[in-house]
Amino acid sequence: MGLKLLSSASHAIRALGYRASRCLTSNQNFAIIFWLQRICVIGAKVGMKILSPVMLTVAFVLISGVVYVYFRHLLYKITDSNITRFAHVVFGVYILINILFNYITCVLTPPGTPEICDDPAKYLGFSYIINDGRRLDTVNQYLRVAPGVKYKYCRYCRCIKPPRAHHCSITGKCILNMDHFCPWMNNCIGYFNYRYFVLFLLWLTIGVIYLMTISFRLFLDLRPGHRMHRIKVSEFLSSETNGIVYAFTIGISIFIAVGILLGWHIYLAITNQTTLEFYINMDERSDAKSRGEVYKNPYDRGWRKNLLRVFGDVPWYSAILMSYRLPIPPEYPFLPEPFSNSNKV
Ligand SMILES: [Zn+2]
Repeated sequence: MGLKLLSSASHAIRALGYRASRCLTSNQNFAIIFWLQRICVIGAKVGMKILSPVMLTVAFVLISGVVYVYFRHLLYKITDSNITRFAHVVFGVYILINILFNYITCVLTPPGTPEICDDPAKYLGFSYIINDGRRLDTVNQYLRVAPGVKYKYCRYCRCIKPPRAHHCSITGKCILNMDHFCPWMNNCIGYFNYRYFVLFLLWLTIGVIYLMTISFRLFLDLRPGHRMHRIKVSEFLSSETNGIVYAFTIGISIFIAVGILLGWHIYLAITNQTTLEFYINMDERSDAKSRGEVYKNPYDRGWRKNLLRVFGDVPWYSAILMSYRLPIPPEYPFLPEPFSNSNKV
């Protein structure tokens, strides 16, 4: 959870700088904010590049440790019945497969990037400026197609950024439906892998609830004041007591962190916002309120349609099952129609 927040640091700092720059007008203040922003973004970028592979390894080590303890100790302590034990194995392995499927697929699936566009004027149009009697053509920087919905040009990636895409300062690419850069995934979370990300959180939460349930009584049964055995690290989990303490501690820690994160992303999915859009919408709502207006998230189509955008147009029970199906096409295509005055709002 903390690292996920850290991963959003550069974006949050940018948002903070953006807000501050709206309040401050002097060049000096602007320069200070600009350089603070630059330093923080570079720091977050370097930190993420180093941390991400480490986090990925840590995640696999933690999961492997839990699986080892489950098969080595927990299964033999929770029941004496072979039939019940078999049912536990089927249930436990099914959860594990879902966790690993969604985790690995999220790591390996590119979130989606717009294609390079060498002719932005074709989609965004021209502005005409008369200067010293000469007509100069300049390419528009954006095309507004609905209230609060724009196609923009990214000069770093030389692409047309469709609505909901953002430039990720860590990967240096524009990402479709950019949510955040996740160090645990070593990947950006966006249009093509967001469903895997949410389902990973869901199955992981189910998994740790199961883990806590089966290890809770065993944990309480440990003798009061019992200390974990001091043995070699490589043999740490071979001890039954250590294994039970490890399983319960990992279970409750992940449940708190991932459960909060899951609740947050369910809220975002129901309201059709990405993490970045949540902050943008918060600003817009505040501005609208100061003008006496009511702001509405331009992508909110009601909770049912919003959930379809994440999980697809499938029954709820198959929405959470393993599947490589692609997300449904975006409401606004990745490229607008070639520019004409008719598609300008
Ligand atoms: Zn870009």
